[in-house]
Amino acid sequence: MKQFARLVVLRLLILFACLYWLEVQKRPAPIDALPAAPRAGRTPAQAAASLLIFDDDEDGYRAWIAANESGYVINTPKGDGGSTPDILHRASCASISSPRIQNYTTSDFKKIAAADKAPLVAWLGENSEDWRPCGRCKP
Ligand SMILES: [Zn+2]
Repeated sequence: MKQFARLVVLRLLILFACLYWLEVQKRPAPIDALPAAPRAGRTPAQAAASLLIFDDDEDGYRAWIAANESGYVINTPKGDGGSTPDILHRASCASISSPRIQNYTTSDFKKIAAADKAPLVAWLGENSEDWRPCGRCKP
């Protein structure tokens, strides 16, 4: 009889252990274990990742504007830029893509390019004290 009682206690212990384990499984996962909720639009990091900077890279710049005629380019002074404003252009704008000019990125200016206008406007909002859209290509 004593052995039977031990067996019952042992089975009850196993049963409670199983019930406890099932209860633990039902608890919601901690917040950091949940997948991130989808976000509308792009994060600043994603927007920055879509920008290309051409600084002392004429060949790379030429190749990019040739392959991205519907893209956009910011002409921005190197260094602090003084009072020179940043100008947003279409990649097809003659003032930033003339074959007669060979120092678009090697003189006092560099170019920031993107296939879409939005990340460039976001960049200007964060980094530029003075910018304007080009009056020639009207981006
Ligand atoms: Zn322009």
